[in-house]
Amino acid sequence: MARDFAPWDRTFRALYADVLERLRIVAGCRADEHVVLPLQGCGTFAVEAALRTFIPRGGTALIPMTGVYADRMARLASEAGRNVVRLAVPAGARICPAAVARALETHPEVSHVCFVYSETGTGIVHDAHAVCASARAAGRRVIVDAVAAFGALPLDLAGHAEIDAMMFTANKCLEAVAGLSFTIARIDRLDECSGNAESWAFDLADLRKHVVRAGLGHSRFTPPTQVIAALSAALDLYDKEGGRAVRLSRYNANLEALYEGLESLGLRPWLDRKLQGPVVVNIHAPASANWNLSRFVDLLREQQVAISDFYHTVEPGFRVGCIGAISPACIRRATKAMANALVRMEIPTASRQGRSAELLDAHAK
Ligand SMILES: *Cc1c(COP(=O)(O)O)cnc(C)c1O
Repeated sequence: MARDFAPWDRTFRALYADVLERLRIVAGCRADEHVVLPLQGCGTFAVEAALRTFIPRGGTALIPMTGVYADRMARLASEAGRNVVRLAVPAGARICPAAVARALETHPEVSHVCFVYSETGTGIVHDAHAVCASARAAGRRVIVDAVAAFGALPLDLAGHAEIDAMMFTANKCLEAVAGLSFTIARIDRLDECSGNAESWAFDLADLRKHVVRAGLGHSRFTPPTQVIAALSAALDLYDKEGGRAVRLSRYNANLEALYEGLESLGLRPWLDRKLQGPVVVNIHAPASANWNLSRFVDLLREQQVAISDFYHTVEPGFRVGCIGAISPACIRRATKAMANALVRMEIPTASRQGRSAELLDAHAK
């Protein structure tokens, strides 16, 4: 990132084209069926672009309401003038494929099922294959927010012809920096959806036309060159690590270490272990009048541990990420830092309670 690149430079364009090609390979799709379309900006930009491009004005999306990112999808769609049918999903549950099928029967006007694969709001990884199967059986199209999934969780696009678009960014499981979002889209569907977007900047069909005209690695508008260079380096690390499956197993090991650490501190995860995905974990706030999230975050920061200073659950809590260039050893260090922070906040932890119980026991003997 410290090197300067000009977007029009021939060597830079080759680097950019190489990044896009490597992403296509990570997605496991064929160059004659799918195209990887980069859009400057964060993940929300790709989500808006996909909704605008594939759902025409007046069209209707069925959105399973799984958490804040599903809420965001619904708002992006309705602000773009698309109709939204909201499918209620109980808090802390996976999307029920039969409920999707029933909703599609009740709502023949729905053209697309739009869902969040790994819902960062709760930490649940939904059964993308089952949701897609319900849509396919009903002859509907699918748009998948895979922002917190792509690069680690599997979703084989070649086996899902009903998926129009899958969106992701450089800065989640690909472990690069923020500033660039992507949509992997079906080429045949893009051709049919030309003119839908009612926006030039967010029109993926226009973006695809530009790629055909100017070539891979060419941008319509100024690309974040340093971010692309960083993503190229991040993909080198991705390959060096062993690719998707190995990365997923590291995230699972991080999750395992985190659950162990939380248990030793007497902290309660928000989700049932069976539903917990390996991306982000929500944890109930300790039941103490001394609890204060921003103080906890500050005390962790002092120990070089960063966690979110917000949460998306109704119940007060905190969230810890399992993704990024971290290992179980980092997670163990982080849970030790949490123990220290709780001591500083005078909040009892299970291990301390355990220790005082042992001491009492020893005294009694
Ligand atoms: C991070 C994320 C996004 C995109 O968020 P931005 O802040 O716009 O990058 C979208 N969906 C999910 C599930 C996410 O985790």
